[in-house]
Order: sequence, then C-alpha cells, then structure tokens
Amino acid sequence: MDEEDATSCRARASWAPPAAGAAVVIVGAGPSGLAAAACLASRGVPATVLEMSDSLVSTWRHRTYDRLTLHLPKRFCQLPLLPFPDAYPAYPSKDQFVAYLEAYAAAAGVAPRFGARVEDAAFDAAAGAWALRLAGGETLLARWLVVATGENAVPRVPAAFDGDGRRLFGGRIMHTCEYKSGEEFAGRKVLVVGCGNSGMEVSLDLCRHGAAPSLVVRNTVHVLPREMLGVSTFGLAMGLLKLLPVQAVDWLLVAAARVALGDTAKLGLRRPKTGPIELKNLTGRTPVLDVVGAVKEVTPRGVRFADGKEEQFDAIILATGYTSSVPSWLKDGGDVFTADGMPKTPFPNGWRGKNGLYTVGFSQRGLLGTSSDALNVARDIHCQWKDMNTVASKPTASSSSTTLLQNSCSCSASNGNNLTVV
Ligand SMILES: Cc1cc2nc3c(=O)[nH]c(=O)nc-3n(C[C@H](O)[C@H](O)[C@H](O)COP(=O)(O)OP(=O)(O)OC[C@H]3O[C@@H](n4cnc5c(N)ncnc54)[C@H](O)[C@@H]3O)c2cc1C
Repeated sequence: MDEEDATSCRARASWAPPAAGAAVVIVGAGPSGLAAAACLASRGVPATVLEMSDSLVSTWRHRTYDRLTLHLPKRFCQLPLLPFPDAYPAYPSKDQFVAYLEAYAAAAGVAPRFGARVEDAAFDAAAGAWALRLAGGETLLARWLVVATGENAVPRVPAAFDGDGRRLFGGRIMHTCEYKSGEEFAGRKVLVVGCGNSGMEVSLDLCRHGAAPSLVVRNTVHVLPREMLGVSTFGLAMGLLKLLPVQAVDWLLVAAARVALGDTAKLGLRRPKTGPIELKNLTGRTPVLDVVGAVKEVTPRGVRFADGKEEQFDAIILATGYTSSVPSWLKDGGDVFTADGMPKTPFPNGWRGKNGLYTVGFSQRGLLGTSSDALNVARDIHCQWKDMNTVASKPTASSSSTTLLQNSCSCSASNGNNLTVV
C-alpha cells in the first residue's frame, strides 16, 4: 500500500453508522466465525453471526471425544487479539479451549444468533447483496458474507460402511464425531478405520479402557513424536522453516523421529517418500499422520480386508475425517470454492471471493490458518465498510448503500486493540 492510500484511509477514521443493508453476516460460531467477528469488532465493524446449533464452538463441545486436547501447542492455536491464559498447559484440554472461546466471544462482544441454520445463500445482483434463507423461511440480506462453517462439517463415511454394510453388521458402527470414551468398549474387539490424529487417539483411549483396538493402515504414514528434546515438533519445524528449505526440514524431522521412535515400518507403518511438512503443504494432511482404510467390505460379524481375510469385531469406529458442507447451501461461490467446498486458491490467499464473499477456516492450516484468514478478512471488509459509510454520509454521493465497491482496496488499518477478558 502506498502512503497516500494509508493517509486517505486514516483520514476517514470517523464514519457514519452502517447504512441499512450494509451488513456483515458470518455463518458459523466456531473458532473461525468468532475470530472473524472479533477482528471486525476491533475495527468497529458490526457483524451478525448465525449459528445453527445452540451454543458457541459446538463442534468441540458436542462432536469430540472426552480425552481431546489441542494437538498443537497453545501458542499456535490462539486466536487474534487474545492469548490463552498463562495458567493453561501447553496443550489445553477441550474444556479449556471451549472456555477460552467463551471468554473470547464475551471480550469481543460477539453474541451469535443461535438456532439459525443457513439453508441457502445466493448473490442477488439487483439488491447488490447476499440473500440468505434460514431454516424456518426467514431471509436476510448481507452486503458481505463470511463463510465460517468449517472444514469438519460433515463426517466422511466410506461407502463400505454406509447403507448395506451398516445394516449387515451386527455390531455398532460410529464415526469419531460420536465417540466420547472407550469405557463402553471395555473387553471388546474394535476396528478403528483411519489413522489420522483422531484414529490414533481413539485407539489409545480404547487401550486405556481395556478394549482391544485394531487400527487399519493401508497407505504410507508419517508418525512424529509430539515433542522432541522437550520442544514441540511443530514449533521446531516452524522455526527451522525460517532457515532451511522444506525438504531439509523434513529430512531432519524424519531423522529425529527415527531416533526417537525407531523404524516404524517394522510395525507396518511405512513412511511416504514425500516429507511430513511438504505433504501437509501439498495435501493439507497433518504432518503427524495419514488417513487410510483397507477394508473391502463389512460382514455380519466383522470386516473382510482387501487381501480377502475376514476378521471379527464387536464395533467399528470410523476415523475417516470430514468434508465441507458449503456445497449444500452456498450458491454463486464458485470463484472461491471447489465443488467439494474447499478453497480454490491455496493458503494464504483463499479467503476472498467476488461480490463481498469471504471464507475463514478453510485453509487446512488449523487455527493458525483461521487467524490469518480472520485478520485478512476484517482488514478488507473494514476498508470497504469505511468507504461505503463515508460515501453514504456525503449528501452528493452518487453511490447508494447497495452499490458494490471493488474488493481491491489496499487500505491497511491497524489490527485493532487487544481484547481483555471481561
Ligand atoms: C478432533 C479435532 C481436533 C483438532 N485439533 C486442532 C488443534 O489442536 N489445533 C488446530 O490448529 N486445529 C485443530 N483442529 C482443526 C480446526 O482448528 C478445528 O476443527 C476448528 O474447530 C475449526 O474451526 P471452524 O470455526 O473453522 O469450524 P467449526 O469449529 O466446525 O465451526 C463451524 C460452525 O459452523 C456452524 N455451521 C455449520 N453449518 C452451518 C449453517 N449452514 N448455518 C449456520 N451455522 C452453521 C457449526 O454448527 C459450527 O458451530 C482440530 C479438529 C478436530 C476435528
């Protein structure tokens, strides 16, 4: 941004209240929606947050297992403007994370509207705004629409475990989003399908509760210890990436993991040729693990594997990940989202689309990605919002409140004040 733009933006620091219809609507009150709302609030831009469930952070509250802690150290998971409390451990529990987000929303004055499920959103060119239809039939108009419904919206259920397979199996089939604890599986044989972080953690939890889990591993997989020599592996990798190319960092990580864990291939966990960080950048999968599943079909008493062998199980837990729900409700988002509801443009540039459409939390970079998106989105909307309200307040303004402004404003205001917990 050149100095002239900055000065002109700063000179317009006092603006009129938003014109009717010039509203920001954020869909989703998880970490991404809250971060976007807080960053906007810190710049004085009001936003309406629509949340289909009955509470903040419902994914963490209702669709995670009891033993869940943050997978990454807290300094990589805090949202803009408010750090985690010092008293929190390096890897906060899910209850601590939820409490942090409650405090975050309160400090930013964000009060979502609960029970507001957006069923359909399309750009209304005549109105110059996004028309959102809620369950129940109510329609809202939004000049700016921020999609924050999450990468983990819809549990992914492989075809073999759905429909006929589910009906055939005599035991219980559940997705990890329904799993709470291994207590109910004590003494049972359980098949865990998928060995991402959730699959590994659920298997550990089952072991601790006296169940006998088997973890299906079809593909190659990177297993790294959470910490190396007392330092978080993720933090170490982030630090090294500032000094070395990604391939060199990957080589060091894999070498150190081999010293710490031995040769995981001996346990059937072969490593991919591509290193853990490069793989994450290419595929979005976490550097820790890969998602796999080599089951051919479900049988009445267990499963048959790809090699034809059948084995009995009392229950099957699907740690097979999630998909985005965006394609089911957002129309006219094709410039930003793929048919699968994920950004077309890789991180860090996938947060902005046409006609005032934005995304937060789809970067496959966890909460670090959420923070980056939220700051970018708030800065961009704030810039237009100021322009719009300045124009609307001028008697001779030729633009009406529904005139679209270009999304190319390069104005960069400050990131706003830090929040304090109220
Ligand atoms: C088990 C697990 C552990 C994770 N651990 C970490 C970690 O340690 N560190 C890290 O950085 N990341 C982690 N992640 C990844 C990611 O940070 C979290 O999934 C995080 O919750 C994403 O936040 P979000 O707001 O984008 O999505 P969500 O938390 O899923 O929130 C989306 C919200 O949108 C609402 N919604 C959806 N559709 C609609 C609609 N149509 N209308 C209205 N509301 C709607 C939902 O009810 C939900 O409340 C983890 C993910 C999982 C699943």
